[in-house]
Amino acid sequence: MAQSKVKQQQLRIVLVGRTGSGKSTSGNTILQRKAFKAMMWSSSVTTTCQKETVQFEGQTLAVVDTPGLFDTRQTHEEVRRELARSISFAAPGPHVILVVIQPNRFTREEQETVKLIQEMFGKQAAPYTMVLFTQGDALKEDKVSIDELIGEDTALRQFVRQCRGRHHVFDNRDKDRSQVRELLKKINSMVQKNRGTYYTNKMFQEAERAIKKETKHLLNENESIRQDEARRKAEENNAFIQDVLQNIAAGTIYGAEAGAAAGLAGPVGAVVGALVAAAVTVIVTKKVCIIQ
Ligand code: GDP
Ligand code: MG
Repeated sequence: MAQSKVKQQQLRIVLVGRTGSGKSTSGNTILQRKAFKAMMWSSSVTTTCQKETVQFEGQTLAVVDTPGLFDTRQTHEEVRRELARSISFAAPGPHVILVVIQPNRFTREEQETVKLIQEMFGKQAAPYTMVLFTQGDALKEDKVSIDELIGEDTALRQFVRQCRGRHHVFDNRDKDRSQVRELLKKINSMVQKNRGTYYTNKMFQEAERAIKKETKHLLNENESIRQDEARRKAEENNAFIQDVLQNIAAGTIYGAEAGAAAGLAGPVGAVVGALVAAAVTVIVTKKVCIIQ
């Protein structure tokens, strides 16, 4: 059956959204452990992209948290580093992009972040996108249903519609697995509709190529290392990440011509270099608008 086939593979889930929307806490709810650091008002959070996996009822889930990617306080360079790491962890591409939103606070800033996410991934990402609302406990307390809330807010309604109506609510205070099971049901049905495909683009493909090469290299170098360990290590550091960082340092990442002129030897050729630069530009310039 197609469903069981879908269930056998590893599901790559990427959490995106504004800082404070509840990405890390939702990641922990899915993982059923405190793997990602949630925001503490008193201290600063480490803002590096993280990936964790879990076995959930026979399915392997790989959850990628993207702290700081859309954080208004991050510098250009931090955004580029974050983007390179997020892409590498989610390579060859996510089965689902979960856009995490606090339902009661679909503010202008949140709306801008959502637009930015859409712009960054492009229209082709729509079939792989789902809205994950947090603060289900607050909704219960206020005695409002999520559908009522979506119905009342034009901007929110539009966004949910763009995600083909796919949405789910998490009460991250509730430890009951059923809300995770329900979310997975929705994700699996979406994956099935997408015929098992995942969202990808040139950046993800280049990252995957670099990871495969690095995994092979690590396996050749060390006989005792396991395949999954090598892959994991390769995702954390590979020529894709290195090249993105180096090109940033050398200032060659801007524009296809600059990349070609520099005669980049690594996997980040001119086209991919330009794509990464374009994505960063979208994030950084839009963020400037948000701050203003
Ligand atoms: P991130 O910046 O997007 O990763 O957001 P965090 O996961 O750090 O969450 C931001 C804040 O919202 C934290 O104080 C969480 O405890 C809180 N939070 C997240 N989800 C929920 C929820 O479902 N209910 C309540 N009451 N608080 C939540
Ligand atoms: Mg976080």
